[in-house]
This record gives sequence, C-alpha cells and structure tokens, in this order.
Amino acid sequence: MTVSDYADEIESNLTDEDDVSRDEIEDDVSELVNQYQVPPDEAINTVTRRYQPDDFTPGVQRSGEDTLKDLGDITEADEWVSVKVNVIQEWEPFDDSPVTQVGLIGDATGSMKYVTFSDNLPQLEEGKSYHIQSAVTDVEDEDDYDVDDIDLKLVDTDNVTTTIEEIDDVEDTKTFTVPIVSVKEDGSGLVKRCSEDDCNKRLKDGGCRDHGTPDDGGESDFAIKAVSDDGVTEPKTLYFGRDAAEEATGMTFGEAEDIFQTSYSNERVVSEIRDRLEGNYVTVSASGSPYGWYVDDVDVYEGEEVTEDDARDLAEHYRSVLDDPEIPEGSAPVTSDGPRRQNAVRVLAAEYQQVDEQFSVSDDDRAPNFALLPTGGRASRVMVSGTATEVGDNEDDTYTSLSVVDLSSHSEAVEEAKVSAGTGDWDAALRNQIRDIETPEFVTVVGGTNVFDFEDEEDGSRVRGANIDPEVIAEVGTGQRDKWTVETLHRTLERIEAFLAAEEGDLADVDRAKNHYGDDISDLIAVVRDTIEHIAPADVAPDLDLPDAPDIDAAVESDDTGSSDATADGSEGTDSDVDADEPSDDKDPEQFGQEIAETS
Ligand SMILES: [Zn+2]
Repeated sequence: MTVSDYADEIESNLTDEDDVSRDEIEDDVSELVNQYQVPPDEAINTVTRRYQPDDFTPGVQRSGEDTLKDLGDITEADEWVSVKVNVIQEWEPFDDSPVTQVGLIGDATGSMKYVTFSDNLPQLEEGKSYHIQSAVTDVEDEDDYDVDDIDLKLVDTDNVTTTIEEIDDVEDTKTFTVPIVSVKEDGSGLVKRCSEDDCNKRLKDGGCRDHGTPDDGGESDFAIKAVSDDGVTEPKTLYFGRDAAEEATGMTFGEAEDIFQTSYSNERVVSEIRDRLEGNYVTVSASGSPYGWYVDDVDVYEGEEVTEDDARDLAEHYRSVLDDPEIPEGSAPVTSDGPRRQNAVRVLAAEYQQVDEQFSVSDDDRAPNFALLPTGGRASRVMVSGTATEVGDNEDDTYTSLSVVDLSSHSEAVEEAKVSAGTGDWDAALRNQIRDIETPEFVTVVGGTNVFDFEDEEDGSRVRGANIDPEVIAEVGTGQRDKWTVETLHRTLERIEAFLAAEEGDLADVDRAKNHYGDDISDLIAVVRDTIEHIAPADVAPDLDLPDAPDIDAAVESDDTGSSDATADGSEGTDSDVDADEPSDDKDPEQFGQEIAETS
C-alpha cells in the first residue's frame, strides 16, 4: 500500500471531496505514516476525521451502548464491546512501535490480545482486573482472519474514548477435561527458575531472558509441560507449576529431587511423570494464552468402567447415524482440502488395519501425508487404545515393534483387529520402552501414520498396509482404555455418518475413500455395533437392541453373513486376503503385525 492508496481510501470515506485537495490528503497521510509512524489504518481514520469531523467514526458506526460480552463470544471485527477481564500478560511494545500498550486479557471463556496506540489511557497492569468499556474489536488483516486474530483495541479519539475501571478479580480460568498425550522433556521435571526478585522465569540454557545467567545457578522447581489432544479441537499445551505438578502426579517436589539425586538425570524424573500422566484424562482449571494453558487446579481421571449412560449414548449415536445421517457440522476429519490441525485421530484397529492408501493435499515437501481411512477421514497422526499383545525385533535387530489389539477385535465382522507400532534406534528410549513392555498390557499409542507399499523380495507380491510411528506409548488401566474406546467409537460414528450422508462432491475425503476402498463400509458399521455391545455393562447390552449394519450398496456383492471380509470389496479389482499369515517376531519390520497383504 502506498500513500496514494491511503489517499484513495480517505477520499472514499469523504462525502464531499471538494473541501480538500488530493495533495492535502496525501501530505497529511504521508506525514502521519512516514514521519510519525502512525499505523496506516489509524492515519486514514485521523485524516478522514480531520475533514469529516461530524460523520465519521472508525470501522462501524458506534451504537449508543456497548454490549457486555464474554471474550469467547466475540467473533467479529469492528464490534464495540464492553468486557470484564483479567490482564494475563503485559507485553513490551517493540521499539519504535506506535503501540503504547499491548498484552493479553482473559476471562473464563477465552483470551484475547489487547492493544492501544494512545498515551492517554491508563496503563493496564498484569494480574489486575478491569471493566473495559467502549473498546472496539479489530483485526490486522481484514481479508484473511479467523477468530484467533481478533484483538481488542482501546481507543482514544475525538468522539470516543475507552473507559478503563479497575474491578475485583475476574475469574479467568476455564475448566475442561482432556487427555494428556505427551509430557515434554524440556519444561518438565526439575526445572531452574530465575532467582531475581519477582522474576521466577524458567531458565533456558541456564539463563533468564531478562536477567541473564543467575550467579547462584537459579532456583530448582518442579513443573510439567504436557500436550493434550482430544482428537477434535486444537492440541493444547498445558503448563503445570509446582502445586499442580504435585497434584497431577502424586509425586512431591522432594521426591522428584530424590529421583534426580540418585540418577543425576532429569530424564528419570520425566520418565516417572510420564508413567503417571501420559494416557490419562485430566480435568483442569486453567487460564489460557496463545502459548498454552496455565493449570491452577487438576484432577486426574483414574478410570472407571463404562457406565450405563455411556452405553446408551453410544447406542443412541449409532441409531441416529443409521436412521438419518447428516454430514456432522464442523467435523474436521471429513471436510475439504484446507489446512487442518494435526490431531491424533481416534481410530479402531479394525479400521486402521484396512488402511493402505495415503495422499497429500499440497506439493510442498513438508506437507504431511495423510493416511486415508476407509470411513472417509484423514489422519497424519492416530491414537489407538487396546492391549499390547506381542513385542518383537526384526531379523537384523534394527527395529522393535508392538502389536496392539483393541476391543473391535471382539466383532464377528473382522477376523481380528490389530495394529503395529514400532521404532528403531533413532528413538532408542522409545525402543527400550517397547522392549520392556510385559505383554499383555493395556496401552494407548499415539503416533504418526505410516502407509507402506512395497514388493516382497521373496515372492514378488505387493505388500501394502499401514502401521504407526509411535510418539508416545502410555501404559494405562482398563478404565482409561474403556474411556478411550468410548471416545473412539463416537469419533468413528461421526465419520461413518458423514460417509453415509455425503453425496459425491460434498466431502473430498469421503470421495477419496469411496474411490479407493469402495462404497461398502457395512463391515465397519458392524464392528462399531459389536464393539458397543461388547463395551456396554453386561446387564445393559441386551437392552440396547441395536439394529444390524445396513447393506449399504446392493451393487457390491457380499455374502452378508455378518462376517464379511475386513477389507472392502470392489476397489481396484484386487482380491483381499484377510487371512494373511499371523505376524511373527522375525518378519520384516514393515510387515510385522500387518493384516493386509494384497496381491494383484
Ligand atoms: Zn529473571
């Protein structure tokens, strides 16, 4: 944008252009932008006001009263609002910036950046709460923004000034339940903090961002940095300070120090935290920022059996998907080609073992490959929860893998339901962890999808399938395993619903799945049905009265005895051979645990 563009915009704002010459407008806006470094939109507003003082207010016409809003309800730019918020963080404006205050405010529903260019407004202080009235929502890039890009602008203009009044503490924490999928080594265990008064920042490489390397090496503390991923919303980073870390792990700071002193290694402390936290659900009260969530209070879900309510919810979901499928709104895993968050998609082993196709939505080398799920979802990461049944090394001892069988294996619609997750010495710690698992053991595996397609050296047959490049293998209890499974069934039903409801052209991934795997997912519907019946409490299961999986596409030949093949028929003219050899410990790593060995 040039001065001339700004002048165009100012002229378009003015109702009577004759009062002022183009040169004057350009001189005025150039002075503000170039000499005084006022941001262009402010400069445009200022010059417009100079020549149209009565009619113009920036953005929208201000209404008589602000509406008191929760931050979570603010979704539009150019809206005049009033908010009651806590200042979570105060940031330093960049040198030479016209910004005079910037930081982060939050309430119980969300957080938002605030900014002002005025010198005259009161300074907001971190940790204090304010009632802010007559502020306007703003975005930097009008053409391309989402809700997260909306800022709250505190204004001080000729005809409107934001009022800022300090009030009693505003509750800015939000309570939510999420699963912890990984504990980060950097930021967890024994950490060092700056010992300068009132600083307390975590030291990075031994130094404080503001105070440099402390003489005493800093103060030890106990903390956790963990990532949660519910498979639907954006993965969250959770920061636990000492109290929350002790609460979450049942391990005291003193015990963590003891572990450190006997092993001289923070790795051992982190490993202990992982054992206690990864794979578990936590209910946290936390205040949020774009950098993560600061946990005030935490309850770890110890796991319990599936309740009657859980079972009835699943049954209801199943019935509604079959009766009247509609494309679920906002169902991230099934929509279009846009960029998406890399959640770990919940998938049953019975479905994942059918995967033998991947795709990328971009030519960029760094773009992820997505495994194409037969129900029409995409996954660059998945999560499977079940029982670790076998651990084995490959022939030349370079790779160790784990077979996981989940509850979908109880379905008569599949021979078995098993996935494989393995690694080599490039992740020696994880490889050792896999080797140490004493099967059988309940585990939750989170990892990248790995779709392979190669020729068998011995008989020249084509070997296709998918396994998991594990990031985290968490040992869990039955309660957690059951909770994961209930969640996985709901997510799978959502994909099935989209698959059943979508017409060609509606959902790119469903089209891809139908083209590759075929239209018939009745086997997977039967798997879901049987798994719901299996997981329901014994006295509830008979009453659920779940209808059978429908015969989805009469054109697809099927013996329809309720024990159809694990792979869809009719795709690419290949015969599926579900009764492939049982995996054995000495196979090629990529074949280990694979169910699908298609020959063409
Ligand atoms: Zn410091």
